[in-house]
Amino acid sequence: MSAAGLRVGGLAPFTSIDYPGKLSAVVFVQGCPWRCGYCHNPHLQARGAATGPAWAETLAWLQRRVGLLDAVVFSGGEPTIDPALGAAMDEARALGLAIGLHSGGIHPRRLREVLPRADWIGLDVKAPLDDDTLHDRITGVAGSAAAAREGLDAVLDANIAHEARSTVHPALFDEAALLRLAEGLARRGVKRYAVQIARPAGALRAVAPPGWPSAGTLGRLGAMFEGFELRGG
Ligand code: SF4
Repeated sequence: MSAAGLRVGGLAPFTSIDYPGKLSAVVFVQGCPWRCGYCHNPHLQARGAATGPAWAETLAWLQRRVGLLDAVVFSGGEPTIDPALGAAMDEARALGLAIGLHSGGIHPRRLREVLPRADWIGLDVKAPLDDDTLHDRITGVAGSAAAAREGLDAVLDANIAHEARSTVHPALFDEAALLRLAEGLARRGVKRYAVQIARPAGALRAVAPPGWPSAGTLGRLGAMFEGFELRGG
């Protein structure tokens, strides 16, 4: 598949937070089949016409930044929705850039195909992996938990540098569920985990109360992983 058809929904020219330790540009791929109520990129959910530059233009833009950037991160939306993703990753790598990927594991088969082309992945895990009802309620899509479990398997099988991350808020689930989520990840071999406090967006209207999650919960989370980070708390 040619990279030419990659549907680019937008670009972030320079970020130090989307790929740990690297100065990156982010390519947002258009389309996501899930409908999380707190989504900060709802304009990227529809797969239809992309509003960003064509891939050829994006690649030329990246080429002009070689030497200034370490990496490019393919994000979304859900980048694995796009059959041109793998070829686009190869073309970006040919510029000498490291390749990062953000995914929710939504399309496990395609995720397995593209993981060998990535250097690092940030995998979103929405809810405890043993709680299909909660997972599906958060994503708004029946059966989404099974895809997430397969996506995690794909990442761990690929033995790639990774971070699992969860968006959390007491309106989504309580601290006991957060600990269950983390224990499930640690048991399966995840080494690095980040918890991001959801900011109000879409259906999520209130900020999380100060001090949530509690220091005790954060201490337990920190003890489960080689690397743990709280973001936005
Ligand atoms: S998976 Fe990500 S891009 Fe898709 S709806 Fe949820 S938050 Fe938005």
